[in-house]
Amino acid sequence: MKVKKDIRSLNLKELCSFFESNNYPAFRGNQVYNWLWNKSCFSFDEMTNISLELREVLKKDFVINHIKIDKIQKSIDGTIKNAVTLFDNLLVESVLIPVKNRTTACISSQVGCSLDCEFCATSKLKRIRNLNPDEIFDQASTINLQSKFYYNRPISNIVFMGMGEPLLNYINLIEGINKITSKDGLGMSPKRITVSTSGISKLIIKMADENVKFNLAVSLHSAVEKTRNKIMPFTIKFPLTDLKEAIKYWYNKTQKIVTYEYIVWKGINDDMNHINALVDFCKSSPSKVNIIEYNKTSNDFFISADDSIINKYIEELESNRIPVTIRKSRGKDIDAACGQLANKLKQ
Ligand code: SF4
Repeated sequence: MKVKKDIRSLNLKELCSFFESNNYPAFRGNQVYNWLWNKSCFSFDEMTNISLELREVLKKDFVINHIKIDKIQKSIDGTIKNAVTLFDNLLVESVLIPVKNRTTACISSQVGCSLDCEFCATSKLKRIRNLNPDEIFDQASTINLQSKFYYNRPISNIVFMGMGEPLLNYINLIEGINKITSKDGLGMSPKRITVSTSGISKLIIKMADENVKFNLAVSLHSAVEKTRNKIMPFTIKFPLTDLKEAIKYWYNKTQKIVTYEYIVWKGINDDMNHINALVDFCKSSPSKVNIIEYNKTSNDFFISADDSIINKYIEELESNRIPVTIRKSRGKDIDAACGQLANKLKQ
């Protein structure tokens, strides 16, 4: 049986050439493209300005692989977690986070994750595949609709902090973001998009060289090599010195300040040695620090540090003029907070 291609993997030029090579006018490509991206249509039959005959031609060669929201779960704080089924029945999760008059969409980039951050529930799911650009786009456009429905406003920000390491799905990530920011997608400013990486240095350099316009966040969690290697074992291959150089390069090329995400755990990084190392690391190029409240997973090794040491972190960072914010966890009661995404909704 012929395997039909997802029509949304074709760009506008390819769509127009498809029509031309089948002896139809090229402008049909524009019409179909408009249905697929501006109107987010789910079936060829919705394309009412396309003749029945032409719709049958499309059905013969193509499918429209939209994601499906299988289940949603709402937190007492208004956060919404989506169980997203992909065309091949695999599952990822995406999250809508409302804060005052803003809504942030937290998007997944891979099914599972190949990295092994010990504190993260997703790391227990093996990486099965990368998400396609349209699957990345669909998560954003679905959360945009949810935001309008539940909160009467479109999404204001997107963070790639869901399942997977976004930079290990580089090409699809960039294509997905291009679609989100393009006029025929969501028309969103790249300044409102943040890609969060666990620190793949050479890909940070690549992004800087390509002059991307979105923001960069790095999950640092420790500026002491030995500790970082222990809690994020894959970082043995990605030393902090390389990361530091890559971030300097990023800043020099893009003039964009990097955000370090940082969790403080009892007995792991809750001492002056780690605080001083973080301050030193931050001084190497303009940066800010987000201290993230820890969300418990099944790993009992990780326990949130005492407030007194978190206050000490803040004090030392501020006295060195390094901006720092504390990020409260959202959606904890539904396992939708940072590091908790583990496809439990399906169970
Ligand atoms: S924190 Fe991010 S990179 Fe690390 S295992 Fe979890 S999903 Fe993967």
